[in-house]
Amino acid sequence: MREEFLMSTLEIKDLHVSAGGKPILKGINLTIKSGEVHALMGPNGSGKSTLSHVIAGDSGYEIVKGDILLDNKSILKMSPDERAKAGLFLAFQHPIEIPGVNLGSLLFTLYKSRHPDAKAVQFHKDLAEYLQKTGVTHAFTERSLNVGLSGGEKKRVEILQMLMLKPKVAIMDETDSGLDIDSLKAIANAINSLRSPEFSALVITHYNRILEYLKPDFVHVLMDGKIAMSGGPNLPGELESKGYSWLNEAVVNG
Ligand code: ADP
Ligand code: MG
Repeated sequence: MREEFLMSTLEIKDLHVSAGGKPILKGINLTIKSGEVHALMGPNGSGKSTLSHVIAGDSGYEIVKGDILLDNKSILKMSPDERAKAGLFLAFQHPIEIPGVNLGSLLFTLYKSRHPDAKAVQFHKDLAEYLQKTGVTHAFTERSLNVGLSGGEKKRVEILQMLMLKPKVAIMDETDSGLDIDSLKAIANAINSLRSPEFSALVITHYNRILEYLKPDFVHVLMDGKIAMSGGPNLPGELESKGYSWLNEAVVNG
């Protein structure tokens, strides 16, 4: 039986992380259950990207304390590749260019990991659908991964990979940044097409607009390495009108 059809939960427990000896994450607790979409907001430098890199298994950070569990099992000792095989997908804030890695071949590899017995014709049919959904030009599949693409195009290519992989848990770091209004809507629809009881996501963003399309179940605000507030779908609107300083005061005043 393929594991990906099982429900899965990502649990972050009292996570403390440093980089270069400097504490960045200072006790994060967050549980994302299968079927849920969570949004993570917060000022620049609050640690959002650090959290996504640590979940992905980036070795450049020091885990000082705490744990990250996927389906009740710690993933901290797993390599980035093992984490991906376990069903985790990370869309990075700054997708890297990889000369020599052909996008089409990469997509086929991702597709094969999901559908080991699929024929090439089925792949090409799904590829056409996903290209259309993400607005990625077919010609890009014949080129090296992300090389020479604009910021917005790289974000769409990340989501294209996500559609191919159909992960259990997706972390998307500012996928909406750099997208124009129409692309944003298309990308939000593509993410929504994955929504199911077997899929969960953590969407890191500065803007309410993508959240209006994604309708997250929970919204969290990261401030100085800690979750300062969690709420429902109305929290982003409140933050947009009042700013993060309002939250600072709200936290201080209890
Ligand atoms: P955000 O994504 O919320 O804007 P980041 O997670 O990128 O924030 O960064 C949080 C803080 O950690 C920043 O002050 C940043 O400079 C610092 N930081 C991130 N990565 C490293 C690193 N590898 N080495 C040293 N400092 C880092
Ligand atoms: Mg960031």
